This record gives sequence, C-alpha cells and structure tokens, in this order.
Amino acid sequence: MNKTRHEQFSELFPNEPKYRWKQVELALFQEKNHGWNDATSLPAAMRASLAEKISWLSFEKVTEVAERDGSVRKVLLEAEDGSRIESVLMQNKSGKYSVCVSTQVGCAMGCAFCSTGKLGLKRSLTADEIVDQLRYWQLSQNPITIPAPNGDTEGKEIITNIVLMGMGEPMNNYENVREALNTILANTGIGPTHITVSSAGVLPRLKKILEDKEWPPVCIAISLHSADPIIRKKIMPSSSPNFLPELYEWAEEYLSKFGNRSHYLTFEYIMLDGVNDSVEDAKKLAAYAKPLSHAKINLIPYNDAAGEFQTSSQEKIFAFMEVLQDAGLDVTRRQSLGGSIKAACGQLAAGVVR
Ligand code: SF4
Repeated sequence: MNKTRHEQFSELFPNEPKYRWKQVELALFQEKNHGWNDATSLPAAMRASLAEKISWLSFEKVTEVAERDGSVRKVLLEAEDGSRIESVLMQNKSGKYSVCVSTQVGCAMGCAFCSTGKLGLKRSLTADEIVDQLRYWQLSQNPITIPAPNGDTEGKEIITNIVLMGMGEPMNNYENVREALNTILANTGIGPTHITVSSAGVLPRLKKILEDKEWPPVCIAISLHSADPIIRKKIMPSSSPNFLPELYEWAEEYLSKFGNRSHYLTFEYIMLDGVNDSVEDAKKLAAYAKPLSHAKINLIPYNDAAGEFQTSSQEKIFAFMEVLQDAGLDVTRRQSLGGSIKAACGQLAAGVVR
C-alpha cells in the first residue's frame, strides 16, 4: 500500500514544525486550491516539491454520470493501484448537497440485496482515499463547495452532509474511517451530526466506539433490515444467531452516551417484497425499536441491483409505515435518488456488476 500523504510529507520535510502539516491539510480543503501550486499559505519552495512528489488527489476520474435533472451524480474513481470505487453527490430539496462515500473496494459482508456485496472484498481504502471522495466533488463541481471551518456559507452551494454508505463496511476499516472523519471534522465546517456512518452491524467495532476517545461523535445508522433473526440471516449472511439481542444491548448503551435531539440512532430497513415487508414484520420491528429512545427508522425502497429481489409496492410500504407510526416511532421513507444511474442504495459496484 502506498504511503499516506502525511507520511510522504514527513519524509519529504522531516524538520518542519508540526503546524505545517495542519496548514497542508487545511489547504487540501480550500475551495480556491486546485493543486499544490495554488496553496499560497505554504512557502513557494514547499509547494514546488509537493507538486512534484505528492499527488493532490488520490484518484483519477474514470467516468461520471448524472441524473437528467443533475440532482444526483455518480463518479467512478480509480486509485493509484488501479482499484476502482464509486462516490455519489446528491442534492436535496432545499438545494444543499450530500456526499455518499465508499470505505472499501468491494465488501466482505455479502448482503444478498447489494451489488457491492457480490464483488467480495478487494481492499480497504486509506484515510486519504476516503477524504478525497469528498474533495473530488468540490474540485470537479464548481461552484459546489465544502464549507470552511467557521466559514461564511451565505449564498453558497454547499455540501452539508456526508454519509458513509457507499461501497464497503466502514466498521471493517475502523482506523482509516476514524482518521478520515477526524480530518474532515478538523478541516471543514461540516459538524459531526451531519455525518452518518452506516454499518451492517459489526458488533465488536460498534462496541469499540463506546470506549474509543478518538472516535468522533458522528451519527450511526445500522442496516437492520429485519427484526426477525431468520429473515435477517437470509438477507444478511453475516448476521450471528444472537445478533438482535446483542445489538439492542449495544444500542441502549450507545444512546445513553450519545443520544439527544440531534444525535439519534437510525435503523435502516430495505423493503423487499414478500421477504421482510409484511404487517407482521412491521410489528416485530416496532416491538424491537420502540423501547429505545432517540432511535429512528428509515425505510428504503429496494433498488433493483442484484435481480434476486423485488421492490415492495407503495401500498405495502405505507401499510408498514403506518404500523411503525401507530407504535409511536419516528419513521422516514428514504426518497430513492439516483436509481436511473445506478447510484442508489445497494447499486454501487464500481462498474463491475450490472
Ligand atoms: S450493504 Fe453495505 S455491508 Fe452489505 S454488502 Fe453492501 S456494502 Fe457491504
């Protein structure tokens, strides 16, 4: 694996004071900078060496596609070793932008409804590669910008949210994900509750978060997809027999530590016709999630990625929602964006599986 930017910088400039690396990191995120030579906060000789020795971005663009109305864009990026990943930029109804970031090349979790899961795991991304997916969109989509720390965002087209829901299981790349999150939080105006890390539920790592002082207070979304252990195992083969009670115990502890009005735990639930979308399934989910304070349910219409499942009908989704709402749960139904360019949930496969 190539050295990180920080390692390369330290080798190149071993005698520089510590604050210099902070300046370098900040320069990477500044809207006006499109290469090392633009980073005028750094000495000219340093800029020239950096331009020669260290790449400004970890990826080359392979292709980029957009929904017809431009609200969703998906890019296929190639890393220096030839690995390919996808990242998505989405505009919400209020005109702000979210970036969906990948954390691994492929994924080992094998969820049955997911195109990435069909690839298997090739490798984990470095912290630089995770951060650079966010930077890519600022560099390529003028005038869309990443807000600066304490920067004025009035009248700007800004990226307000980041979701780690692209290719890969973030908890299986724990250290690099943590480093990337801390880098983003230190160098941008995007706050921790505007960042969501999605996990299929790797319990040892989720438990580690509870003790890890370096883990930032970002939001967590758990891909639950069923509150029935047999159904869950069928669609998420990584699920262990005791997963649901153990996850519940973890969720109680997590929410007692972090839960509040702006920091909640989300249970993601993909709606698969005839698999997990009956009223009975909804009642099981309500019974599971209701006792947890600050837990939300996000229903996700299935996107035809792997061909094995069908999308639940609107009627079924609304009936499912009603059961949850009647139980007093906070429920959202994700607007499925990017389906026509295969940029929606479960469809990212680096151009491999189609
Ligand atoms: S849904 Fe997420 S965890 Fe499951 S296979 Fe796809 S990328 Fe991996």
